[in-house]
Amino acid sequence: MAVPKRKISKTRGRKRRTHIRARSIQTVVCRECHLSILPHAVCPRCGHYARFDGPVVPAND
Ligand SMILES: [Zn+2]
Repeated sequence: MAVPKRKISKTRGRKRRTHIRARSIQTVVCRECHLSILPHAVCPRCGHYARFDGPVVPAND
């Protein structure tokens, strides 16, 4: 089995890991009510989805 010849220092390991991080959540704006929502999801406020006409799920008022 291959074994690392030298120890990777704390700094080198940490430098490599600077790129490993959580991405911010992507949002899109609802076409009907302009609420920020998750993409490919039914709008929680008005029930609108993508290009379909009218609400997929009736809005609960
Ligand atoms: Zn909406």
